[in-house]
Amino acid sequence: MLVGEKAEPVKKFFDGLAEVMFKVTSGIMMVAPLGVFGILAPVVGEYGLEILLPLIMVIVAVATGCLLHIIVVYGAVVKSLGKISPIKFLKGMSPAFLFAFSSASSAATLPLSMKNAQENVGVSKSTSSFVLPLGATINMDGTALYNGVAVVFIAQFYSESLSALDIVTVLLVATLAAIGTAGVPGAGLIMLTITLAAIGLPLEGIALVAAIDRILDMMRTATNILGDSACAVYIDRSEHKDRAFQDEAA
Ligand code: ASP
Repeated sequence: MLVGEKAEPVKKFFDGLAEVMFKVTSGIMMVAPLGVFGILAPVVGEYGLEILLPLIMVIVAVATGCLLHIIVVYGAVVKSLGKISPIKFLKGMSPAFLFAFSSASSAATLPLSMKNAQENVGVSKSTSSFVLPLGATINMDGTALYNGVAVVFIAQFYSESLSALDIVTVLLVATLAAIGTAGVPGAGLIMLTITLAAIGLPLEGIALVAAIDRILDMMRTATNILGDSACAVYIDRSEHKDRAFQDEAA
């Protein structure tokens, strides 16, 4: 903007780069099933076919948790605090949701989240350009949820029972670890070590969930970006209310 026309080649370069990245991503998605087979094969080889059912249960548990969180928590936030229809919110954010799902990166989805929030949901530019980048860095509900499910699965696999204190520790540490998680693919898996270490579970448990991490990452990232957008809707609404009060006072 500052340099004007002279910056056009730079803009075109980045637009072109984004197009290339979209093509590369869709190419990767086409061979993803083969990749998933490849990462599952050694785990099945080591623990036998019986490991598949518990892994499928983990996927179902994370999917159900994410769906409930989106519908109940985000739905309630946008409806009661943001004063917009949850259907309108979900429809408006669906391109960003799908991009987050396929890229498994909140950071990569950020430009699209901002575009959707501004153009489809009506969040102001000033709110979205502050809240969404902050959210993509620290607000990761999906990751925290996944952390909890993975810890319970690993504890069950090693026949360890979790005391009430362990569960409270998991709640706190998983929330803090999620705040520290980067918005890139696979970061949540690495942060899982912190939660496992906090309650003394074997870190080797990571290898079990690593096999299905990409699938879980897709679900948690899509949940993460919707959480950021729901917060942006609420903050925007409260900012506008403040403005109305100021107007009234003036
Ligand atoms: N991939 C997630 C995100 O970008 C982070 C994670 O691995 O949990 O939001």
